[in-house]
Amino acid sequence: MKLDKYRKKRNFEVTPEPKGATSPPKGKGKPLIFVVQEHQASHLHFDFRLEWRGVLLSWAIPKGPSVDPSVKRLAVPTEDHPLEYANFEGIIPPGEYGAGTVMVWDRGTWIPDDPDVDADLKDGELKFTLEGKKLKGSWVMIRARGGWSRSSEKPYWMLIKHRDAFASKEDITKSEPLSATSGHTLEQIAKDGARGAGKSKRRAP
Ligand code: MN
Repeated sequence: MKLDKYRKKRNFEVTPEPKGATSPPKGKGKPLIFVVQEHQASHLHFDFRLEWRGVLLSWAIPKGPSVDPSVKRLAVPTEDHPLEYANFEGIIPPGEYGAGTVMVWDRGTWIPDDPDVDADLKDGELKFTLEGKKLKGSWVMIRARGGWSRSSEKPYWMLIKHRDAFASKEDITKSEPLSATSGHTLEQIAKDGARGAGKSKRRAP
């Protein structure tokens, strides 16, 4: 089961994150979704997720995506997440894995340049187009040679924007700080989550 790692790390009696249905992969021709979540955990980072084979392939990007083609952004592989995670915005309670505030920073569809995504992942070079609210145009994820992430025990990757009409020198994580779904800031999501804590799915003993 691809989501075993994801489920093992979390207590779904406590966290409002989705457990994830074991949904069969969508039929061919259905658009693939992507999501970028801004995550104020012990360190602020962005989680970049691409739908593939019924799950969200996931990388943590400490500095977030850059639309400047001269900037490479470190992307550390993390466990596959369920597709429903693309809708998750809210609070992961203290003490839980990834405790902190999660915002849906950007969302949309992605189109791989090459339909054989499995081969691209194996080769360590995945080229694709993003059609998000904020991130658009052509991108590449490249696996760093010899780079090894201690936290995930997997090689790390780099996310790089290709030169096209959507490339720019702007710091998009700063110029576009609001949620792509709620329009809220991280601070508002944190406050709303704290207020709604009594309504969480935490069960009475
Ligand atoms: Mn995260």
